[in-house]
Amino acid sequence: MQSKIIEIKNKAIEEISEVKTKEEIFDLEKKYLGRNSEFNQILKNLKNLSEEEKKEIGKSANLAKKEIEDNLKKYERIISESNFDFQSEKIDITIPGKRKKRGHLNILSQVRNEIEDIFTGMGFEVADGPEVETEHYNFDALNIPKDHPARDEWDTFWIKPEEKLDHMLLRTHTSPVQIRYMEKNEPPFRIISPGKCFRREATDSTHEHTFYQFEALVVGEDVSVANFKYIGEQFFSKFFNKDIKVRLRPSFFPFVEPGFEFDISCLMCSGKGCRACKNNGWLELGGAGMVNQNVFVASGYPRNKYQGFAWGFGLERLAMMKYKISDIRLFHSGDLRFIKQF
Ligand SMILES: [Zn+2]
Repeated sequence: MQSKIIEIKNKAIEEISEVKTKEEIFDLEKKYLGRNSEFNQILKNLKNLSEEEKKEIGKSANLAKKEIEDNLKKYERIISESNFDFQSEKIDITIPGKRKKRGHLNILSQVRNEIEDIFTGMGFEVADGPEVETEHYNFDALNIPKDHPARDEWDTFWIKPEEKLDHMLLRTHTSPVQIRYMEKNEPPFRIISPGKCFRREATDSTHEHTFYQFEALVVGEDVSVANFKYIGEQFFSKFFNKDIKVRLRPSFFPFVEPGFEFDISCLMCSGKGCRACKNNGWLELGGAGMVNQNVFVASGYPRNKYQGFAWGFGLERLAMMKYKISDIRLFHSGDLRFIKQF
């Protein structure tokens, strides 16, 4: 039996050494190792042998099979290497390269950079402040006392109170930066402050619980509403790349006096009236006004020495108008189909 095994093995190795194609390798594999191979017959018949013989014959048969397998692999590799097709692997250096996909700034960051560029071009400084604020900076110093009904307009995320700490919250607007900046700086100055804000409110196509505002604040001894209107028109004309008119309508916000609703001429019809502006020629941007003297006093300035104007507009709203985006929730959705468009 042992000599039979060796005989089969030697024959196999000899035949393998003469193969020319992968098909031949495949056939030999079937012939010597397949289900109907002589080796398999031997292994099948082991059950008729004594324990001693079973062990011995089984071992030699398996060793022989292993040797055949190794030879098959070896010749398969040799055939593969000799068939290597240099022609098809040739590199054509005239074919244009594949463009690698690179990440890019989110549309909100792009708009924010654009806004900062326009304002710094007009001599403004960019100021920053914390997103977790105290009740003092977010409300009290902005002339919104605790018992004032206007405070309900800002649905607030409160931070769980800790001992000895002022009530903390996620800022509901960028206006606290006004106070922080005025505490450390003397007028005259011009600043903008873009940043993230939070409000505890239901989301829909125009409302998000997390959004960006950019605050503008100009303070000096003789800053007027006319300056305000002019800066607004300059900024929006540059931002939208067309002539924009600004309209101010009387309104109330605790931190300004007088307060205005700030409108710009319709981007589609330039004021003639169309569907986008519901035929009135104007688009609402948000609240603005001349800084309330109480806010100056809360920041450490003497009453009635300075005048200034301020606004806090939504960054998403501007991006939506400029790029015709219909739903504010897309900005933070992480949806690549949306993000890749900009
Ligand atoms: Zn219009």
